[in-house]
Amino acid sequence: MAIARKVRHGEFFMGRLSNGADLLEEITGICKKENIRLGRVEALGAVKKACLAYYDQHNHEYNYFTLDQHLEITNLTGNISIKDGGPIVHAHITLADESGKAFGGHLAAGTMVFACELVIQVFDGPGFERGFDQDTGLPLWSMPD
Ligand code: ZN
Repeated sequence: MAIARKVRHGEFFMGRLSNGADLLEEITGICKKENIRLGRVEALGAVKKACLAYYDQHNHEYNYFTLDQHLEITNLTGNISIKDGGPIVHAHITLADESGKAFGGHLAAGTMVFACELVIQVFDGPGFERGFDQDTGLPLWSMPD
């Protein structure tokens, strides 16, 4: 059964990330610093290398892979919720090489920023907390009625 809750839009944060930073860790760091517990994020820019994952739906595990090349971030879309008491950023990313060929997947730690501009929108609403989901093996949102 679908679970959806009404949220209210809050403040926006707009900024850029540091050359050489870990993309996922730096976005998570902004959320911790600004106490953002619910929201969404979008970004564009470029990376020096990327670490992504593909979720194997049969074996219930992430398969990680590295793209050791310079790539454009053509899109990063993600959300911010709570896991183990702190903010967690779940983001997917599409990257393009010099010929325009695209790669994509679940953003993992180890993706190194060249330049990145991002917008975070904060939401006010019920807590979206991640907990283990038996059916998928994933830490999905569980919300009280
Ligand atoms: Zn994902």
